[in-house]
Amino acid sequence: MAVDALCSPLGPPACEKDAKALQFIEEMTRSADAVQARVLAEILSRNSETEYLRRYNLAGATDRETFKSKIPMVTYEDLEPIIQRIANGDRSPILSAHPISEFLTSSGTSAGERKLMPTIREELDRRQLLYSLLMPVMNLYMPGLDKGKGLYFLFVKSETKTPGGLLARPVLTSYYKSDHFKTRAFDPYNVYTSPNEAILCPDSFQSMYSQMLCGLYERQQVLRLGAIFASGLLRAIRFLQLNWRELAHDIRTGTLNLKISDSDIRSCMARVLRPDMELADFIESECSKDNWERIITRVWPNTKYLEVIVTGAMAQYIPTLDYYSGGLPKVCTMYASSECYFGLNLNPMCKPSEVSYTIMPNMAYFEFLPHDPNSPSAGSDKLVDLVDVEVGKEYELVITTYAGLCRYRVGDILRVTGFHNSAPQFHFVRRKNVLLSIDSDKTDEAELQSAVENASKLLNTFNTTVVEYTSYADTKTIPGHYVIYWELLVKDPTNSPTKEVLEQCCLAMEESLNSVYRQGRVECNSIGALEIRVVKNGTFEELMDYAISRGASINQYKVPRCVNFTPIMELLDSRVLSNHFSQSLPHWTPERRR
Ligand code: AMP
Repeated sequence: MAVDALCSPLGPPACEKDAKALQFIEEMTRSADAVQARVLAEILSRNSETEYLRRYNLAGATDRETFKSKIPMVTYEDLEPIIQRIANGDRSPILSAHPISEFLTSSGTSAGERKLMPTIREELDRRQLLYSLLMPVMNLYMPGLDKGKGLYFLFVKSETKTPGGLLARPVLTSYYKSDHFKTRAFDPYNVYTSPNEAILCPDSFQSMYSQMLCGLYERQQVLRLGAIFASGLLRAIRFLQLNWRELAHDIRTGTLNLKISDSDIRSCMARVLRPDMELADFIESECSKDNWERIITRVWPNTKYLEVIVTGAMAQYIPTLDYYSGGLPKVCTMYASSECYFGLNLNPMCKPSEVSYTIMPNMAYFEFLPHDPNSPSAGSDKLVDLVDVEVGKEYELVITTYAGLCRYRVGDILRVTGFHNSAPQFHFVRRKNVLLSIDSDKTDEAELQSAVENASKLLNTFNTTVVEYTSYADTKTIPGHYVIYWELLVKDPTNSPTKEVLEQCCLAMEESLNSVYRQGRVECNSIGALEIRVVKNGTFEELMDYAISRGASINQYKVPRCVNFTPIMELLDSRVLSNHFSQSLPHWTPERRR
């Protein structure tokens, strides 16, 4: 069939395969409500005999009304006992009639550990289906992507087994290790410079080194550059800053650095490596310059856009990405989680601040809890269906998945910006309760509070207490790091805490933070050493005066536990007496502590 004959309302497709994908998007979004009713009926009928649905006496009903009247809205903590049973080896159909194939470890944590999201094998097909829609949409806006390649920095992380023998690993690790990814069909519009062997190497240095080397060899072919999150792409730039000499040496000699010991990488790189004096000279001359502004477009001159998530917490990296790329377009293609992949951006070339994701109604059953910060305890009777959300309003996302999560609160706050056909489009507003985030870590106020409490115990022998504190995610350094401002009350100035003790306090805070933070420090090197900045006495009172001068009520004033407003930062930084960094890495192993 001629491609034109399949022309989609989204635009003329680049090829027949794209036409089918775009047609699928049209069909799904045109009949969003009917698809949602079908998805719910499918989930409820296949899971009707599960322990969970039987518990709520659904008696085989698959309609929305019965579902809504009987099934409660839940959080991870509500499901934890069940999840623990599955993790311990209970194979009976508890949540899902289909066997739980593995656990996906979320970057959201519960009691300091990654949440374990049960999944079933067929979810991989659903994830792949969503991935297969991304390039067809991109090709509408960026012709010619079949004439070159994508340099994407993709990584696997370590995996563990639960006591009952199920694998527990991040969703992307699960996807990259699957045949869906490893044996994907060749698609001229979606060719990566990174070989699978490099992506699949669990050692982050070796993986990054070889992906970078391939990207340098193919610098003229690279048309798009990316990583999952903006922080990951900046880490790759930092890696180039630290390792360009060795990379250029390998290119000059056509040999591979001995630090790369992974045999799969070594054999696949043997096919890539060749001596190239000109390229080595070029890399040395560009990378040895003091000024790294626009380094991305200098090294990869044909790059048309960056593909990275810069929505939500990642927006903090936009200025740095612009600096290194000379303001190349930043494309956010999809919105997904360990629990479920949600949807995609149908207008990928828009500005980051205007990104909206269209939730694909075939992925799960979606409900929306109107978000009112003043009455956070809204019940499930307030839940609204996908097609009934209202433009301009904010909602918390609640999902019912094929793997058996029922009316599960994801914790993301979304604002409706419009509709594509009858499917709403959402701006990602924020994740609930996240105070600090550098990479995929999410630290909430309670975690920060207990970290400060634990660390400040080290000050007891100095008769010193932390009277006030606040925090800041410093992304000016790569990798970014947490900064904690402490105002101390030193009761005996002749015995004030030493520099070494304050450094130990930094480490004690890190030891108290959740496992995603510690993994970022230890395994991924995606978070830098935590810093404590000790400020002068009276600084926090000045902070309050400042807030009151700007209209805050004196009765209701609370010390902000995280700051990022420039005048406040300037005030705090101008009062710093000393700063201290963690001198070693916190404890982290892939094993779960509980
Ligand atoms: P995880 O459970 O570790 O896979 O993390 C999923 C979470 O990452 C989501 O619930 C969101 O909070 C966040 N996230 C995923 N995709 C996006 C996106 N495109 N923009 C902003 N935040 C996102």
